[in-house]
Amino acid sequence: MASDATAPAEAGSDFIREIIQADLASGRHKTVVTRFPPEPNGYLHIGHAKSICLNFGVAREFGGRCHLRFDDTNPTKEEQEYIDAIERDVRWLGFDWGEHLYHASDYFEQLYQWAEHLIRAGKAYVDDTPLEEMRAMRGSLTEPGRNSPFRERSAEENLDLFRRMRAGEFQNGDRVLRAKIDMAAGNMNLRDPVLYRILHASHPRTGTTWSIYPTYDYAHGQSDAIEHITHSLCTLEFADHQPLYDWFLDSLPVPSRPRQYEFARLNLTYTVLSKRFLTDLVKNGRVRGWDDPRMPTIAGLRRRGVPPEALREFVRRIGMARANSVIEVAMFEHTIREYLNASSSRRMAVLKPLKLVLENYPEGLSEEFEVANHPEDPAAGTRKVPFGREIYIEQEDFMENPSNKFFRLGPGREVRLRGAYLVTCKSVVKDSNGAVIELRGAYDPTTHGGNAPDGRKVKGTLHWVSAAHAKPAEVRIYHQLFSRPDPGADGDLLADLNPDSLEILDGARVEPSLAVESSTATVQFERQGYFCRDPDSTGDHLVFNRTVGLRDTWAKVKAAAPAASGI
Ligand code: ATP
Ligand code: MG
Repeated sequence: MASDATAPAEAGSDFIREIIQADLASGRHKTVVTRFPPEPNGYLHIGHAKSICLNFGVAREFGGRCHLRFDDTNPTKEEQEYIDAIERDVRWLGFDWGEHLYHASDYFEQLYQWAEHLIRAGKAYVDDTPLEEMRAMRGSLTEPGRNSPFRERSAEENLDLFRRMRAGEFQNGDRVLRAKIDMAAGNMNLRDPVLYRILHASHPRTGTTWSIYPTYDYAHGQSDAIEHITHSLCTLEFADHQPLYDWFLDSLPVPSRPRQYEFARLNLTYTVLSKRFLTDLVKNGRVRGWDDPRMPTIAGLRRRGVPPEALREFVRRIGMARANSVIEVAMFEHTIREYLNASSSRRMAVLKPLKLVLENYPEGLSEEFEVANHPEDPAAGTRKVPFGREIYIEQEDFMENPSNKFFRLGPGREVRLRGAYLVTCKSVVKDSNGAVIELRGAYDPTTHGGNAPDGRKVKGTLHWVSAAHAKPAEVRIYHQLFSRPDPGADGDLLADLNPDSLEILDGARVEPSLAVESSTATVQFERQGYFCRDPDSTGDHLVFNRTVGLRDTWAKVKAAAPAASGI
């Protein structure tokens, strides 16, 4: 559960760092070598960020190195676009593999030679059993499997067939190479697993050189051994594969002896972290692409304005558990908010504008106010914000018949326009349906900068923009992509998609500094949340994404029920 999710997880404090520390202290390893091994069959998501931060993080902390290895053993699903995206995303997260970029496909020849080694040792055989039948013969958790009739082929016959598989003499699915272990093993992974399958497909790196491809199980550990990986860190679903991982390494003349350790996958409420499903969302146009800000992909989070520091901090906070759990997405948002609150510049933007005309402000006049970029950080500097006779305020900052608890604007009430003046609402203009379309008011010229010389109290402070200077903008507000915390719990993920996950406000007005700034940094729109400029923006059409709102549901969850944070 996520109850201890905000406890500090300093370097050395989780079980993996403890193992590494002990291995270095005992002299078992002189240096730590890890790897991040993505399959280039989709974009990376926030779950991968956890694995990246762990693998690259421990290498950095212990003075070792981390490899980026593309696990490119399945040519039918791999694309260059994914390879480029993965490299970009790892770098953006703040990590660097230096010269240590590898591909499982670099090892195809060595892996093949080792497969022949297994055949000669009587530890692998070519099986002609049709795949369906082979599956049925594997047995189940309660029933042992049955030996294939091809299991006792001689090494010579196996070598001949395997070489002909390589030479492309057979069709896809005609035969496989299997390890000869134990069809009655309690662990299903040891029931003569498949090492090679025939696949006449062009590979992005090796082209048509190969018509057989190794399986993940066969390729992974040996790739680790070739690269002298010391600690092969993977997620818990591979725990059952560990005996097989070790069996291969024990059976082959590998140059090093890596060890596998498993940690918990990251799961988040309201979120699906499965590349296959995310691929479907993109391919079926359910979202606007891999980097749609509603996607849990690293590219989506970046476009949404989440800084890499906040993502790394989130991973640090959730820690490295040995048991799977579900983390509240609100905790992720809390971490982003905390980071941005401290680091981001403040700006003014009115999302749903209502015009306020200051009748006593001279027509044609305008002035500029020097406004602080960050209320608690003078080093963040100031910027100039123009002011004029016509101002936009937020529709929800005005009430015609306000209660005593409403401290914003109402007829006859006075509020502060942040950093500018105190203003009073004098009258209301309505359309033929009775809807308020404009306010008329007055400013107090003695309150320049927003302070009353007589010290009179004004409770409400509103953000605003000058109608003559503000830039129109489209603002995209993102809600959870799924409408329930446990999407797919009823068996249908698509049915749980939130139809209202994207809300577009196309009449917003933002202060002019947001249009001229070349910076893509995420800023706080005062009293609204954190926003960043979307790449869809053009010279005269600004688009902003809401990274996260100001309201913190996680702080409330924590206060109400500290132990009940997971699902
Ligand atoms: P998916 O299940 O989304 O398709 P995958 O495991 O097939 O992901 P890989 O490209 O094989 O994706 O993953 C690369 C590394 O990232 C692996 O070591 C994997 O264990 C790790 N990883 C994948 N998903 C998560 C997650 N949710 N939390 C932590 N680590 C993850
Ligand atoms: Mg995988």
